[in-house]
Amino acid sequence: MRLSPVFLLSATNVVHFPSQAKTFGAPEIAFLGRSNVGKSSLINALLGEKVAHTSSTPGRTRAINFFALHEGTGERKRARPALILADLPGYGYAKISKSVASEWPNFIEPYLREREALALAVCLVDTNIPPQKSDRQLIDFFRETDRPFVVVGTKADRLSNSALAKSLTALKREHEVDDVLPVSAKTSAGVKALWARLMSVDQV
Ligand code: GDP
Repeated sequence: MRLSPVFLLSATNVVHFPSQAKTFGAPEIAFLGRSNVGKSSLINALLGEKVAHTSSTPGRTRAINFFALHEGTGERKRARPALILADLPGYGYAKISKSVASEWPNFIEPYLREREALALAVCLVDTNIPPQKSDRQLIDFFRETDRPFVVVGTKADRLSNSALAKSLTALKREHEVDDVLPVSAKTSAGVKALWARLMSVDQV
């Protein structure tokens, strides 16, 4: 299955968030993680093309970058996207304190808290490092706000099977989640399973 992405806009303020007229009310999926977690690589692996580079162009790194994902291509492309992908700025290495978005520009928290179309948050955690406090705080935020989220473990190819199993166990325990889906942007392992999860989001 292939969805073709169309870059919509970069938002640095709540007033920029795409309107229903632009998204056709399609469900939105947000991608979040610490800087360097492998977010751009994973988005590119999911979409099969280099779209996430758009997000790293200067001025867009601190923005929410919205992409419309369309079924079909060319003439057969439907007007209403199947999904909207929201690529959020990576958070820093320091912990996220008090307000989840305290290190982030102030439009991030309203997006995560209030955006009606937000159907799923994909929280990326690196399987190659121990569980991070900042990741836990983000996960707690979604728990507290009752927002649907999924935890995805990146760079799984770098670990042996047993080391990966250990890492996933530690991540589940520390973040108190039932599941961490391992993926690799390098080998595409887990990418199909992640797609299946993304395509199963509730229409809002
Ligand atoms: P971002 O800052 O979260 O967007 O992270 P990037 O996608 O730019 O990746 C950060 C670094 O991790 C880069 O050096 C990537 O090549 C590397 N990386 C990302 N994903 C993978 C992966 O699945 N496997 C491996 N081995 N390296 C990865």
